[in-house]
Amino acid sequence: MMKKTICTAVLLALIVVVLAAVAYWYLGLRSTAPLRPARIPEAPVSLSSPTPSVESLREMMRGANVVICVLDAMRADHVGAYGYPRETTPNIDALAEEALIFENHFCQYPQTSPSTASLFTSQYPDTHGTGVQRPGTDTLQMLNPSTFTLESGLKTAGYHTLIFTSNPAAAPALGLGADFDVQVTPRGRARDPNWRRPEQLVKEIEAKLKGGSDTPFFAYAHFLPPHYPYDAPDEMKALLARQDPPEMWQAKAPFKPALHKSEAERAPRSRKKWINLYDANLRWGDWAVGALVKFLKEQGVYDNTLLIITSDHGEALREHQYEWHATCPFDEAIHIPLIVKFPGNGGPVGRVGALTQTIDVAPTILDLFGVPWPEDSVQGKSLVPLLTGEAEEINKYIICRTGGDYPAYVVRDQRSALFLYHRAQARALYDLTTDSLQTTNVAETQPDRAAELAKVFVAFAQRQKYPPLDFVDPEYQPTLAPAGPGATIPAETRRKLRALGYVD
Ligand SMILES: [Zn+2]
Repeated sequence: MMKKTICTAVLLALIVVVLAAVAYWYLGLRSTAPLRPARIPEAPVSLSSPTPSVESLREMMRGANVVICVLDAMRADHVGAYGYPRETTPNIDALAEEALIFENHFCQYPQTSPSTASLFTSQYPDTHGTGVQRPGTDTLQMLNPSTFTLESGLKTAGYHTLIFTSNPAAAPALGLGADFDVQVTPRGRARDPNWRRPEQLVKEIEAKLKGGSDTPFFAYAHFLPPHYPYDAPDEMKALLARQDPPEMWQAKAPFKPALHKSEAERAPRSRKKWINLYDANLRWGDWAVGALVKFLKEQGVYDNTLLIITSDHGEALREHQYEWHATCPFDEAIHIPLIVKFPGNGGPVGRVGALTQTIDVAPTILDLFGVPWPEDSVQGKSLVPLLTGEAEEINKYIICRTGGDYPAYVVRDQRSALFLYHRAQARALYDLTTDSLQTTNVAETQPDRAAELAKVFVAFAQRQKYPPLDFVDPEYQPTLAPAGPGATIPAETRRKLRALGYVD
């Protein structure tokens, strides 16, 4: 009897050990040391080339082409040039060696449509309104066609403008890119699996740009990978299959994210498998960058082109319980690459640690080309003063909004990130000086810092066309009717915000 009990106990213990080992291996629960999250820079700007003057930059840009290449859902910390140890991005890394790498660059909204609208218009999502998911409604706004855009600014300056996109969420159907001269989009072909392949888009680009022209061009190319679906070529998947990814950690979110059912179904339960598939897709997107560079060189226009590599948002791989991107306020979904290669060999090369954001890209390009922009429409800032040594800081804070049923606003500087969840349901503060992975909410222990950033948010909210004050006041009723310039906070809301320390 005794022997039988011991046998059963040993058998049970063995089963537990085997199950634990399977969970450890399959679910990828191991926590390895983090690599390079967004971090406090040693210097705001560190150039290995001489510091240029504004005049020399404008001279360099005379008659140059502009190409913006977006890899959808490319998070910065999975890119080699940003410290990832895997060979996910050999072509981007090679380009980055002769370019400027913006190390602390963030999107305005971790979802394709609102983020792309911010790139084109240099407006925050609560001003352009495009594709913003508002709780309790499925209605999405299109971009107002009268809004000033980067492409309209460059068109006025004599540029031939072309948009190539394989993501229907970044296409003229939502008003995005409707003012480009040439539009190559998946309209009507979105269900064609070939259409989302980078090889297809590269073909379209080559067909339209082959032979060159006397007019300088602005081409916007939006490739779907590393975004889902994960159908990278088998040889790219094979490079990483069954390997342990170098970076896996898990922490709790302050507010349990609600996953869309379809999203939850598509995310592989094994984190290891998921990260390997994501990295293989990133490698596929990087292939497109290599193909584009090769084509520009073959056409003899590479040395006369300002080439910008960036993304619309990152991707949450369950680090903070979030999956995918649109609802996640953590760095994995909002910290994105920005790499700028100037024409020829004499442009600035190095790393920029200062905070930058998506809405800064358009005014930076226009500034480099000496093209004016309407101050009352453009909310971003030119980053040129960082390059010429005139400024060490352009943005004291970056501000980002998320979507879904429980959206959040992020107010982030180099030291802290404050999350304000919709209708003040929760708020969280992360001390980035000691906790770059954002694992511990210190809102209670650092109330002054939280209050300081909350005030920044309220001041920001009042400057938006649709003031998002419902993130600090549960009763505030936002309206989609434009509030007009100089929108004011209703007296009752102001009283409540004062009591909470959000306004003076
Ligand atoms: Zn996207």
